[in-house]
Amino acid sequence: MVRFLDLQAQYRKLKPEMDAAIADVIENSRFIGGAGNSAFELAFAAYQEVAHCIGVANGTDAIEIALEALNLPAGSEVIVPANSFIASSEAVTRAGLRVVFADVDPVTYTLDLDDVRRRLSGDSAAIIAVHLYGHPCDMDGLNALAAEHGLKIIEDCAQAHGAEYKGRRVGGLGDVATFSFYPGKNLGAYGDAGAITTNDEGLAKRMRMIANHGRTGKYDHQFEGRNSRLDGLQAAILNVKLPHLESWIQRRNELARAYLAGLPIVNDLALPTLPADGRHGLHLFVVRTSRRDELKTFLAERGIETGVHYPIALPKLEAYAYLNQQDEPMFANRSDTTLLSLPIGDHMTVGDVAVVCGAVREFFSAPSAD
Ligand SMILES: *Cc1c(COP(=O)(O)O)cnc(C)c1O
Repeated sequence: MVRFLDLQAQYRKLKPEMDAAIADVIENSRFIGGAGNSAFELAFAAYQEVAHCIGVANGTDAIEIALEALNLPAGSEVIVPANSFIASSEAVTRAGLRVVFADVDPVTYTLDLDDVRRRLSGDSAAIIAVHLYGHPCDMDGLNALAAEHGLKIIEDCAQAHGAEYKGRRVGGLGDVATFSFYPGKNLGAYGDAGAITTNDEGLAKRMRMIANHGRTGKYDHQFEGRNSRLDGLQAAILNVKLPHLESWIQRRNELARAYLAGLPIVNDLALPTLPADGRHGLHLFVVRTSRRDELKTFLAERGIETGVHYPIALPKLEAYAYLNQQDEPMFANRSDTTLLSLPIGDHMTVGDVAVVCGAVREFFSAPSAD
């Protein structure tokens, strides 16, 4: 049995410390704000190598709040990759802006710069740079394009905790960045949670106010904001997990290298790549094959859990029929039937990877690695 995700196993390892941290919040009734929240924000900003971190309620709110704080002209266009989770585009619409999907690169699964350039118009205001699956985007390319056209860059780091681009952690490589601590992410809370990071102090202040009713004092509000605070219990839970994050990212990279060494080299199996000048966050290890559903079933019959991210490209979702991008000849639009996420995570060993690789070799009738 190789599980896709095993949060119980992770909890069992952290149990004494985790139970004490949760009990402490309850005993002190420190449910909103408090020392645990600021401790987490400081520690997470340090980990991601960025000046400011604001804890918020989830990763989707994080994108919405970041967009609102950037004060883009109402109705302006925001470029979003055509393969991502819907949160990346949903937040754009919620913020009163217009989604324009751009294709992703077949090797990195991140924004295809040439396609982004083609889609720019006089109304373009920002780009959502999703470090999809944990692979860092071409930030130099995106930042150059942004500088040339006066665009803002929002890094969607929901899948990229610990990922690095040219030796720097993601989260401070654009104007503002957003993180999710949804339980299954590389760093997961025990419920919904998220964060926004930036090196811009003014923007950080504004985002903190937006997330907390536009507050300056308890009942003093400079403008209308919203309620999207990081829950005190979740902050305490994240404080217990954060010291382990680096070893978990390293483990994910070790497992990915084992996959790349052990999976068969056959025509109908495209393997992911690790960036030469950075570090993959490896939230997901995604391969492509025309026999995706068949392989998924084959692995399931052998007790190997897999996932699909994502089964329907964003432009093809009912929600985006109005954009009329569903039939565009984009890689994202035609590859969604071929994507398969093999299991990866801190619950796994190199031995588990060998089991998965053996089964994939058997499926493709490829000889064993040794
Ligand atoms: C998970 C995810 C989000 C949303 O995060 P939530 O905390 O679930 O709201 C946004 N973008 C991407 C790419 C994600 O994977």
